[in-house]
Amino acid sequence: MAQSVAPPAVSSTGTTGSTGTAVTPLPLRAVLPWAVFVGTLMLVLLYFVGAEQGATSVFSGAEVHEWVHDGRHLLGFPCH
Ligand SMILES: [Zn+2]
Repeated sequence: MAQSVAPPAVSSTGTTGSTGTAVTPLPLRAVLPWAVFVGTLMLVLLYFVGAEQGATSVFSGAEVHEWVHDGRHLLGFPCH
């Protein structure tokens, strides 16, 4: 005889029964430094893909431009 297994009941606080794991929300104070760090990293990456060329270039030469050239065309930045 087959028995049906019911999913564990979830209480209004987001916790499950005594055998389940508790779900605790991440506080904004813990996430904010990582969000700022990743956002800054993405802005630097966006700069190198989109504007590291010609008068706005940080590094002389075309090495950075050649490394991100396909990404530049993929994202629709003007190139050549
Ligand atoms: Zn190009």
